[in-house]
Amino acid sequence: MSERAPAIVIIGSGFAGLGMAIQLKKSGFHDFVILEKSNALGGTWYDNTYPGCACDVPSHMYSFSFDLNPGWTRMFAPQPEIRAYMERVADKHAIRPHLRFGSHVEAMEYDDAAKRWNVSLADGTVFTPKAVVSGIGALHIPSYPDLPGIEKFQGTVFHSAEWNHDYDLTGKRVAVIGTGASAIQFVPKIAKQVDHLALFQRTPPWIQPKPDVSIPAPVRSAFQRVPGAARAFRAGIYWGLEARAVGFTIDPRLSGPMESLARRHIKRQIADPELRAKVTPDYTIGCKRVLLSNDYYPALTRDNVDVQTSGVREVRENSVIAADGTEYEVDAIIYGTGFKVTDALAEQRIVGRDGRKIQEAWANGIEAYRGTSVPGFPNLFLLLGPNTGLGHNSVVFMIEVQIQHVLSCLRLVQESGADAIEPKPEALRAFNDKLHKRLRKAVWSEGGCQSWYLDDSGVNRTLWPGHTFEFWAGTRKAREEDYTLTY
Ligand SMILES: Cc1cc2nc3c(=O)[nH]c(=O)nc-3n(C[C@H](O)[C@H](O)[C@H](O)COP(=O)(O)OP(=O)(O)OC[C@H]3O[C@@H](n4cnc5c(N)ncnc54)[C@H](O)[C@@H]3O)c2cc1C
Repeated sequence: MSERAPAIVIIGSGFAGLGMAIQLKKSGFHDFVILEKSNALGGTWYDNTYPGCACDVPSHMYSFSFDLNPGWTRMFAPQPEIRAYMERVADKHAIRPHLRFGSHVEAMEYDDAAKRWNVSLADGTVFTPKAVVSGIGALHIPSYPDLPGIEKFQGTVFHSAEWNHDYDLTGKRVAVIGTGASAIQFVPKIAKQVDHLALFQRTPPWIQPKPDVSIPAPVRSAFQRVPGAARAFRAGIYWGLEARAVGFTIDPRLSGPMESLARRHIKRQIADPELRAKVTPDYTIGCKRVLLSNDYYPALTRDNVDVQTSGVREVRENSVIAADGTEYEVDAIIYGTGFKVTDALAEQRIVGRDGRKIQEAWANGIEAYRGTSVPGFPNLFLLLGPNTGLGHNSVVFMIEVQIQHVLSCLRLVQESGADAIEPKPEALRAFNDKLHKRLRKAVWSEGGCQSWYLDDSGVNRTLWPGHTFEFWAGTRKAREEDYTLTY
């Protein structure tokens, strides 16, 4: 293998990059490198270390199908366990020699004459692979709210994805901005520790009870010893989660029982009618990601926690002023404001054939054939690309389907002796028109909420509009007639 001119460059070492690397090796492709800007693998599960960080899809499903882990200690494993699993899987498949940490990809340009990509790193190094698989992650770049006056604030400020573990929150007065998936995990943990917590909520999430139990040693041992037990358990979880897609994608009225469950959860855990009203959403369940928690609502009932719904008017040297005029003196501000989702892809510096920038291809919004490839960008594959995210099941499933798709594209190139493969514009058009037609009827468009699933024009560029088995059926094997091969 030539170090700077491998056949394939993978960007990122989260579930996507790691899974791609493993499957390449299994399929006999060994000439690849993984460029990772961090100093460790794991992506999401390396970056996010906030108190209470855990997955919200059961771990037996939120893991690779080809490397089941019978040893998960809980239904929803905490972050250190998921990260350890990924490290173990990387070792098992001897992925480490392929990893190049501290390698921040800044730009990619296709050289049509050489039929190779120029992949440029921040330190000036250029790799020239034939193919690039991007696994840069969708929930990766922290999103910061624009708080008037924040530059004057004298205290400590950090984002949940960049948790400041050197800052001891004990006895501190804290403002938390945002009530999304991360906030509902860390708020109950820090509420016990801080002197006072002002929680700024813009839109309340729908929250259901979290069926999170520890998995006793005898059960773990049975998963290990009884052939098929762990796989059968995973299959049960898979179909249970798929049932949720019916309400989200076919008719939101079918989610009625889910909404009743969430309403009962509020009633059971919060006695105060005023607080109940504040945390009860006014949009259809599923429109924003449905969250799971048993300790979030009880945390909000604590005497030292205030839920503030009027928004932030201004930040001063030592306080946050709410839009209703209430002033909270605070020592720290923690952002639980999530990630820049569609921008993460749209801001990439990628130049395809004939000097065409990806932003030109995406002038009307980001899109990719099967969520994976874009006409005019040969041998470039986007894992967890446009409209491959999920509101109801594990995205590791989607990543694995895309990996099979990439492998089948690479085989088409190899077997035909071609140099490059790219989707036909008409294949992308047909795929995307159908996808967006379905999305227009789905709860994310019709449910009466604003969410990170939608781009600036209100179009859903994030989620797959149906069951995951539909994506599997249409995607795992590339259809030659939908692609152009160049020689
Ligand atoms: C706290 C949290 C909990 C979550 N829980 C769930 C869950 O329960 N179920 C679920 O389905 N999903 C969940 N998600 C979504 C989660 O992001 C995905 O499940 C999954 O981890 C995505 O994997 P990935 O490899 O695509 O991206 P990531 O894990 O984000 O990895 C991307 C990698 O690419 C690297 N990278 C990015 N840009 C560059 C560059 N320019 N050059 C070099 N390297 C680069 C990054 O450093 C990172 O290591 C969660 C997300 C968060 C933040």
